[in-house]
Amino acid sequence: MRNNAPLQNLDDALAQLLAAVQPLAQTESVPTAQALGRVLAVDVIAALDVPPGDNSAMDGYALRAADVPAPGTVLPVSQRIPAGVVGQPLQAGTAARIFTGAQIPTGADAVVMQEQCEALAEADGGGAAAVRIQIKPLHGLAIRRRGEDVARGSAVLKQGTRLTPAALGLAASVGAALLGVTRRPRVALFSTGDELVMPGEVAPEDMPPGAIYNANRYTLSGLLQALGCEVTDLGLVPDQLEATRAALRVAAEGHDLILTSGGVSVGEEDHLRPAVQAEGRLDLWQIAMKPGKPLAFGVIGGGAGGTWFIGLPGNPVSSLVTFLLLVRPVLLRLQGVPVALLGMPRGLPLRSAFRRTKADSRREFVRARLDAEGNVTVYPNQSSGVLTSMVWADGLVDIPAGTLVEPGQTVSFIPMSFLQ
Ligand code: AMP
Ligand code: MG
Repeated sequence: MRNNAPLQNLDDALAQLLAAVQPLAQTESVPTAQALGRVLAVDVIAALDVPPGDNSAMDGYALRAADVPAPGTVLPVSQRIPAGVVGQPLQAGTAARIFTGAQIPTGADAVVMQEQCEALAEADGGGAAAVRIQIKPLHGLAIRRRGEDVARGSAVLKQGTRLTPAALGLAASVGAALLGVTRRPRVALFSTGDELVMPGEVAPEDMPPGAIYNANRYTLSGLLQALGCEVTDLGLVPDQLEATRAALRVAAEGHDLILTSGGVSVGEEDHLRPAVQAEGRLDLWQIAMKPGKPLAFGVIGGGAGGTWFIGLPGNPVSSLVTFLLLVRPVLLRLQGVPVALLGMPRGLPLRSAFRRTKADSRREFVRARLDAEGNVTVYPNQSSGVLTSMVWADGLVDIPAGTLVEPGQTVSFIPMSFLQ
């Protein structure tokens, strides 16, 4: 084991993880309304044009542009076309009252919005009998063309796309009621640490000396669920080699990934390393990043049927940041997102509102937020145990190793939304 090995570069570690895991082969068909966050296993092909026909972008009057040679032209209103109604072919020299989304009648080639029209003389059934057009319309005005959003036969959403609300809407707009997605990754989760107790089991006033609540179980379970995983929560495992080995064997059954927190440092109370070595194979990485130096990666069970293992550090901020930067891409890769989309997120170049006077030998991800001017501020306590900093932050500043920062300098800000 390379305890004294040089620190591993973060980008290299991520590339190695992404090269190791392959997308899950199984797919399933799910109702579009329930597919949020899932990853498409097949392209969604449009079976029709969207919009399916030319329609009006405005409430107004549909007409032939050539019938309005100058502003002030008056045209009789020959019909009324609400959305969902198909009008008659437009009689020459007349206008049709039309509403947003209604199909353009044959013969009309422009719509003038009602704000640029004056309705004249009430017709029998309500509405205007004639209309004065206050502008000289150009051909095509305020018409949404058939197929301008989506052309029939095109792939509106590609395999490997993670389904956002907008993507679900687009799939629905081409009539897709079911979507083919990769099955959910099955992840077994457990925490290690004899100091940990569970909220609800031990009341704050009954906390034994030295105990703390298990925060990571909740954070990691939440992160996994948000990434579309099925989580088997195996709770807390004692800091003992045999118990850890037994937990790994249970976790390897029926799961794609085992995720743990704590116990991956090199102290003698850190049992994950020997346990994983006994039950499979392990790479323990000392990654050149802060927070989150130690990260364990391996396979339990061996062979083709083995289960991936990732052990995160126990410090709550370390486990969260390493999850976002290293585990999240793995889980998306398992679901078929292309590797090219899963590299280290490129930060936005923004102005620093903070000063950093001490350079760190490791690349650091500092919990940060934008101030009212849009400049980057940082949380005052950057300790890897201070979970408050993660709740406060809307992003991470990616500071290269050995770098000082002055106010006004450009820094690289990774919004949390890039890490969802
Ligand atoms: P470890 O990685 O096990 O050496 O733990 C590093 C630090 O993180 C210690 O201070 C632990 O008490 C703390 N820690 C470990 N696991 C958790 C957890 N699940 N929730 C909150 N803190 C934890
Ligand atoms: Mg521990």
